[in-house]
Amino acid sequence: MDDEQALLREERRKDRLIQTRVPRDLESTLKREARRRRLTVSHLIRNILEDTFQLVDDVVANVDEIVTDSVELARRVGRDARRVADVVRDAVVAPGTDAEAAASDVRDRAPHAPEPAAAPDTTQDDPARLASVYAWNRVIANRPATCARCATELERGSDAFVGLSEEANGPRVWLCAACGESL
Ligand SMILES: [Zn+2]
Repeated sequence: MDDEQALLREERRKDRLIQTRVPRDLESTLKREARRRRLTVSHLIRNILEDTFQLVDDVVANVDEIVTDSVELARRVGRDARRVADVVRDAVVAPGTDAEAAASDVRDRAPHAPEPAAAPDTTQDDPARLASVYAWNRVIANRPATCARCATELERGSDAFVGLSEEANGPRVWLCAACGESL
């Protein structure tokens, strides 16, 4: 307590005194917090005020940076959106085809999309599933898959074709590069 008193006296000597009325529960909160931090209530309030204004200053000082970041972010989002749009345009072969199905297929592979656990597509030669494909999209596989025609294993990074299917919710159909080229 002697230390606190001394500190208080020292502060009083240099500093201006500002008095304020606070509700009883705020007072007890301040006292409790001051005890917890081993500060005087006066010191605690001063810290809080200084922190608050420091915070405001920092925010004001950072506004330029924030704006720059936002512009860069907007630019990046625009770029990604354009890339996705390009892929959709390539994917939609004829006007009037199921653009929404193609778009959702593209969304699955959209840049920055969180990558699901690498479970190999268990695609086997299934004529019905192949028949539902209305277009093949030339892609680079990002996870292991199996060619639906020759059962070649497609590794991550290999050239492949992915089927755009009428059955939007069906499993993906893959072709290896050789089978895709020989269509
Ligand atoms: Zn194949």
